Amino acid sequence: MSTLFYTHPSSLDHDTGPGHPERIDRVHAVSKALSGPEFDALERREAPRGSVWDIKRVHSDDYMQSVFAAVPESGFAQLDADTVLSPGSGEAALFAVGGICAAVDSVHAGEANNAFCALRPPGHHAEHDRAMGFCLFNNVAIGAFHALESDGIDRVAVVDFDVHHGNGTQQAFWDHKNLFFASIHQSPCYPGTGSERERGAHGNIVNMPLPPGSGGEELRDAWGFIRPALRDFSPDLVMISAGFDAHRADPLAQLDFVEADYTWITDELLAMAAEMAQGRVVSTLEGGYDHGALGRSVAAHVRALMGA
Ligand SMILES: [Zn+2]
Repeated sequence: MSTLFYTHPSSLDHDTGPGHPERIDRVHAVSKALSGPEFDALERREAPRGSVWDIKRVHSDDYMQSVFAAVPESGFAQLDADTVLSPGSGEAALFAVGGICAAVDSVHAGEANNAFCALRPPGHHAEHDRAMGFCLFNNVAIGAFHALESDGIDRVAVVDFDVHHGNGTQQAFWDHKNLFFASIHQSPCYPGTGSERERGAHGNIVNMPLPPGSGGEELRDAWGFIRPALRDFSPDLVMISAGFDAHRADPLAQLDFVEADYTWITDELLAMAAEMAQGRVVSTLEGGYDHGALGRSVAAHVRALMGA
């Protein structure tokens, strides 16, 4: 069985302007990192275009329309202090949504064990009716709700190891006992949510905030708390919000992860999925802003996925 790799050229048309950390070159860094012969076995697929119906699984109709209406004909438009639109952003967002839904369908159909989506814009900060933190629509949450509509997938877990708390995913999952969200993130840090006390309506949220300077040892301790909760939840599909901005070289935060930590956490998630979810894992790119560290960390993550 192979690992699927979803991309789309529209990710290169979401231009966030000069000096923005969530920039087009991130995609080039990922593509370059996965271009060597050791990645020849990756099954590369172009993401299909998602639909407004996919987006409405997580977002209000009013919010969705407001995002598309804000897409400028030229230049840039700003949805919040960090979240910028260019003429190609609406289409890029639709393909980012379509990619994760297709990855869920392909893994569910048994076409591969697992999949990695390297599409922009990222998603985990986007809330029901609000763009935040470079995110327009919550790709991973949309993929999880999409998965729940599949036969044989009754429970979906998202594990988020981006350095920032996945506030949008937590909000989308809060009241749903069949959805589980665990986040390992720096605190204090943007967006300020994600304390251990935020547990969801059904105890289905597990937050593991780490102080600045935390590294691989603290990551392993945090996973030690998440793992039993995830095992109790017993997912049919494991999804990953794979941000690589907890890397020690990343300019946006102060955690101290290295490439080997991404290999380790990916292997742990794969082992958990093998135990209870028939090995099904769908991972999607969130943050990661030092392009060298991003490329090497994505390579470590995908190498582990391919080894499953
Ligand atoms: Zn982040």
